[in-house]
Amino acid sequence: MSDTTTALSGVGIGRGLAVGPILRMPDPLPDPTDEPSSVGADAEKVRAAGALAATAADIRLRGERAGGAAKDVLDAQALMAEDPTLKDDVHARIADGKTAERAVHEAFAAFRDLLTSMGGYMGERATDLNDVSQRVVAHLQGVAAPGVPDPDHAFILVARDLAPADTALLDLDKVLALVTSDGGPTSHTAILAREKSIVAVVGANGALELEDGQVVIVDAATGTVSVSPSVDEQAAATETIAARAAVADVPVGPGALADGTAVPLLANLGSVDGAGPAIEKGAEGVGLFRTEFLFLDADRAPTVAEQQEKYTQLLTAFSGKKVVVRALDAGADKPLSFLNDEPEENPALGLRGLRALRTNEPILRDQLTALANADAATDAELWVMAPMVSTVEETRYFTKLARELGIKTAGVMIEVPAAALLADRLLPDTDFASIGTNDLTQYTLAADRLLGSVASFQDPWHPAVLRLVGEVGKAGSTLGKPVGICGEAAADPLLAVVLVGLGATSLSMSPAALADVRAELAKYTLVEAREFADIALSANSAVEARVAVLAAATSLTTTTTESE
Ligand code: PEP
Ligand code: MG
Repeated sequence: MSDTTTALSGVGIGRGLAVGPILRMPDPLPDPTDEPSSVGADAEKVRAAGALAATAADIRLRGERAGGAAKDVLDAQALMAEDPTLKDDVHARIADGKTAERAVHEAFAAFRDLLTSMGGYMGERATDLNDVSQRVVAHLQGVAAPGVPDPDHAFILVARDLAPADTALLDLDKVLALVTSDGGPTSHTAILAREKSIVAVVGANGALELEDGQVVIVDAATGTVSVSPSVDEQAAATETIAARAAVADVPVGPGALADGTAVPLLANLGSVDGAGPAIEKGAEGVGLFRTEFLFLDADRAPTVAEQQEKYTQLLTAFSGKKVVVRALDAGADKPLSFLNDEPEENPALGLRGLRALRTNEPILRDQLTALANADAATDAELWVMAPMVSTVEETRYFTKLARELGIKTAGVMIEVPAAALLADRLLPDTDFASIGTNDLTQYTLAADRLLGSVASFQDPWHPAVLRLVGEVGKAGSTLGKPVGICGEAAADPLLAVVLVGLGATSLSMSPAALADVRAELAKYTLVEAREFADIALSANSAVEARVAVLAAATSLTTTTTESE
């Protein structure tokens, strides 16, 4: 880096690299104030009509440029801006003395409330109306429209944080990387970024001070954002990006250690669309399908038929392969209004995961029924697991209910230290365990995974977390039960080796990480993986563990190369 280049640091997601100009995600507009018009009703009506028409034209143009499903969504939004009833309401409010901005805001809000009260499909359109209303008001005020910017060039998106819906809809041909000032490595923004292979650095302090158009290099491997890099630095980054793309094209095979020990490499998915790209990257199945991501916007529980359709698509895509589906996991940053709508002061410690499902047992039963039906109609190997299980009793409850409803293989996620410590008592009562290292780290280190301020504690290399993983690994091997890892820790190549050394029998990760993890596993034998695990366990901190294992791995690979 040149002397003049400054760098921001945060937590990198994956190992990608990107270079380009930044664009900031505009903050939502404040509600227009309700002050009397200074230009008179006729002029306000002309302003409002002009802004509505211009917004409709702008949205339609974006739709044409985006094509596909996005075009249909955007065309529908353009129609909202042109809706004659809404326009009449805006004019009526202007006739009552409102400004165009205020009249638009109020008319759209009234229509939105009406749609919300209708629920179902119409209710889901309410959010779209908000977006259109904000765009019209932005046009009237001559400021940037809210939401993800949509320029005609590629850019690096800088935001405080993104809603899962924003992340899910990012146009990946244009968004080269994502930099957020908030959010930890396991926030769902980070998870979706990883799933979509978006280069990202989250929790980067100072990111919001960057200016639109400033060129940066985002390096997820080091968690840095270099600001205004020199031309040489930009050229070097571009070269590295091209070289890595070439490596990613190397053919893929099943995951295994150097001595041939099989370590199936599975994909973490949150949508059926992710199946194709995951298989292309060599996923041997799915190790975690986050069903809650399918229903984040729903204001009522999905029906058995609605769910069955999605699960059937998923299982069909992985025909003949293992697919581990997780029951709905309503959590702190994944609110599912139909499961837990009560505000909680500490949502991560509240009624989430299996706890929320249990208090809404009909919803859990519907989901398990839909899964069993989809399983019967397809030939993937379906496993189903419960999120955030803390006790033996919960393990028995879920496993019994799942089996009763036709699930052949039922298991539990180990995300709470209590469950890890008692893995030898939980596992006899269920078919498998899958360790969610994101939550396990959050609960072990008492560090909210959504808070940028404590992101440094959210490190699964911490020996306390690894010791807990080891407990589950030991119980699994004694009892002959599979122990998967489905938290983001499995996506860190060297840590993946340590996790296998601790007893993990499969690893599940964002498909983007598969190639790197596969390559790293192939370098070491099971004996060496176990040695690395011992080294990590005897460290005093996450940093020490990482450094010590890296040193051991480097000396091993150097020795091997020398003796060749
Ligand atoms: C985890 O906690 O590690 C996990 C896989 O579940 P989620 O990230 O969805 O909470
Ligand atoms: Mg979890």
